[in-house]
Amino acid sequence: MSAFVDEYMAKLKVKNPAEPEFHQAAMEVAESLEVVIAKHPVYRKMKVLERISEPERVIMFRVPWVDDKGEIQINRGFRIEMNSAIGPYKGGLRFHPTVYLGLLKFLAFEQVFKNALTTLPMGGGKGGSDFDPKGKSDLEVMKFCQSFMTELSRHIGQFTDVPAGDIGVGGREIGFMFGQYKKVRNEFVGVLTGKGLNWGGSLIRPEATGYGAVYFAAEMLATRSETLEGKTCLVSGSGNVAQYAIEKILDLGGKPVTCSDSAGYIYDEAGIDRKKLAFLLELKNVKRGRISEYADKFKGAVYTPVDKAKDFNPLWDHKAECAFPSAVQNEINAKDAANLLKNGVYVVSEGANMPTVPDGVNLFVEKGILYGPGKAANAGGVATSGLEMSQNSLRLSWTREEVDTRLHGIMKAIHKQCVDASSAYGMKGNYVAGANIAGFLKVADSMLDQGIV
Ligand code: NAP
Repeated sequence: MSAFVDEYMAKLKVKNPAEPEFHQAAMEVAESLEVVIAKHPVYRKMKVLERISEPERVIMFRVPWVDDKGEIQINRGFRIEMNSAIGPYKGGLRFHPTVYLGLLKFLAFEQVFKNALTTLPMGGGKGGSDFDPKGKSDLEVMKFCQSFMTELSRHIGQFTDVPAGDIGVGGREIGFMFGQYKKVRNEFVGVLTGKGLNWGGSLIRPEATGYGAVYFAAEMLATRSETLEGKTCLVSGSGNVAQYAIEKILDLGGKPVTCSDSAGYIYDEAGIDRKKLAFLLELKNVKRGRISEYADKFKGAVYTPVDKAKDFNPLWDHKAECAFPSAVQNEINAKDAANLLKNGVYVVSEGANMPTVPDGVNLFVEKGILYGPGKAANAGGVATSGLEMSQNSLRLSWTREEVDTRLHGIMKAIHKQCVDASSAYGMKGNYVAGANIAGFLKVADSMLDQGIV
């Protein structure tokens, strides 16, 4: 490790104790930037990475609400406004019991680089709450969302900070929050993305992250004159990202064979076809059921519950060529990464944010597989949020084809930036370095232009 990384990390850890995910994300970026800092000392002199690592603003607030039994519940709400050098803060809201300040700082930090890669003018932010929508009635979710937005509405705005969804925040939650924003602020503006089509949403936004991750995989494969046609694909998660990753894999001729939720996973050797995918969408988005029900319905599929005693995830231990981790951070440990390689996987395109632990990332990079890190591979979601903002400003709605074509073009552009930046710094084919360097340079140069603010 260089003196630069050592010094940067030591200070970051002292300032942000007990935030391991934030340390992990920062370390990866700092390591990628060693070569850039060595070549351009101005970034170090002007403490650009140190400034990017310090949120411009952190908002933390009480979210009280009353459940169906009449009991008072108190959750904690957050918004991290990380960096606005290239545009208004933009990034999702996560509702999950594991949410705490450090988790959101890691996500906001990643978002800064990801948004820069999209080619659109968006700064980075992230927010959410330790509220768990699972098992709550629609009324309870609405009451929580209203209380959350009552406070958040003071801090966000169409030109300031435009949140979207993430884990636990889908169309239902965005709807409740948009309704409350409109009521308390008395204005109908594009303050959130992922909105319903009747009230300012964009076609393709729900599909965008999953589609984008598959487009990114296709771009990586194209560098070896290959396609997804006929390739077996492992997918984790069964939420928004996983569902549409599966759909796009099918569109491009691949064969998805797994998906999961936090209780377990299914392996369907025959492949998850369109009929089965329609069942999955209904199960997860309407019935809000568990993935085990897929195996009850389709007899060829095998359900394996999570076994906490195991030191690896058997989902990643099947023969395949491609993997699309689309659930949660650090879901691929070093053993899982080794299992993937052992089973023939040579394309990993991350739908989730930071789903692979650092030792796993190092293994993928060392072995020279086509490894697309989340901040590049899953940027299609926020990119299409950016397209939703453009449509809101224009007061126009683009067709499905138009948005999809733009999304596809953006994923190609992100891929090209990663390839160009990694080549320029002597690390051709290393998409981790490429994404970090290209994202950093755009934000860093903008910060240099704008002075010490
Ligand atoms: P989602 O719709 O809420 O789905 C999350 C999925 O992950 C669910 O199947 C969930 O299962 C599973 N999961 C959650 N925690 C888990 C755990 N500890 N172990 C195993 N599985 C777990 O969320 P999403 O929007 O698809 O987001 C998935 C990932 O993509 C996240 O890392 C998110 O940050 C990233 N991402 C999302 C977007 C977007 O546009 N939505 C954009 C970029 C990146 P349960 O239902 O059992 O909890």
